Amino acid sequence: MALSRRRFMILAASVASTTVLSTESRADAPLLAESDPTALALGYKADAAKVDKTKFPRFQVGQTCANCQLYQGKPGSVTGPCPTYGGKLVYAKGWCNAYVKKA
Ligand code: SF4
Repeated sequence: MALSRRRFMILAASVASTTVLSTESRADAPLLAESDPTALALGYKADAAKVDKTKFPRFQVGQTCANCQLYQGKPGSVTGPCPTYGGKLVYAKGWCNAYVKKA
């Protein structure tokens, strides 16, 4: 029990530090490439219309980074940071399988 609590605390600290780093203003952050290994694994497309719906059946028309809970771009921005990719910039009209509908 103590070990799992310790592991949880280490994991929580790791996630928290990653979140802090990725929520900083990153106007100079690099643009996420579709060829990035994580982007490939999660089916990221800079244009949601190009998502492979066979490989990623979670995708529904209308879902884009702009209306994803994780998107950190300003409303109306063309790109914005995404913590899924360490704060790299993703296109507002993009999409990936980590999509979470904005509450
Ligand atoms: S997690 Fe959300 S904001 Fe980030 S790339 Fe995927 S759909 Fe876009």
